[in-house]
Amino acid sequence: MELFAVPDLPEIREGDDLAAMVRDRVDLRADDVVCVASTVVSKAEGRTFDLGDFPAGPRAREIAARLGAISGEEKDPRFAQAVLEESTELLMEAPFLLTETRFGHVGVNAGIDRSNVPDGDLLLLPERPSESAERIREGLPVDRVVVTDTCGRPFRHGQRGVAIGWAGMHASRDWRGETDRDGRELGVTVESVVDELAAASNLVAGEGDGGTPAVVVRDFEWGEHGGSDELFRDVGGDFVRQALRGWEFD
Ligand code: GDP
Ligand code: MN
Ligand code: MN
Ligand code: MN
Repeated sequence: MELFAVPDLPEIREGDDLAAMVRDRVDLRADDVVCVASTVVSKAEGRTFDLGDFPAGPRAREIAARLGAISGEEKDPRFAQAVLEESTELLMEAPFLLTETRFGHVGVNAGIDRSNVPDGDLLLLPERPSESAERIREGLPVDRVVVTDTCGRPFRHGQRGVAIGWAGMHASRDWRGETDRDGRELGVTVESVVDELAAASNLVAGEGDGGTPAVVVRDFEWGEHGGSDELFRDVGGDFVRQALRGWEFD
């Protein structure tokens, strides 16, 4: 398997046809996976906003005041308002905002980005990233597209790429029922392939001013495995989230 960045992509603007831009720069093969950083998908979809677009309500003001008191730094309640509007559930309100986005992804600040955003204060995640992935896929001669974001995670320092949308492939590869090298049957292994591809692609895309938001994964083979499209846990099967609901920060 090989990964390489799509060269020479310009600054992406609202209305840009990302698929055409990628298609023009790489000789793609049908079995390539194209991974695209959500930052540029959002830019193309016009998800750039100003703080002034989010007049803060009482809840946002309360959250921002609390976060400000904890951090000793003033927090803009309009940013909290933007996070609230992007979210269906608040998992943690302090010492940072951890929420579930409208499309089911759990992340800090609903994935709203303030870096690499030249035309506004805020870049929101795509509204429905799997639909974005499907639209990009339709414009490319490839079968599989993953939309990625860089996220932190609990229990470990550092961020890495995760998949927030995908098209043309299952999210996970199912190893259950197969055997390990000792002939023992695998009971629980469902491998989150889209996250693994996102992490690999993020490694190539970088985080700064590299200008390489699209990455081609070549010669990745799925193999003879079943697949599942579940990536985001629902509350009923998410014991960490249930534990958080019973927990208060002070
Ligand atoms: P995220 O992980 O989706 O939040 O995206 P990042 O902000 O980390 O950016 C990932 C990569 O895309 C980095 O190499 C950035 O330099 C690059 N990038 C971000 N915006 C643009 C853009 O509009 N055009 C180009 N060519 N690269 C961009
Ligand atoms: Mn991001
Ligand atoms: Mn990133
Ligand atoms: Mn293992």
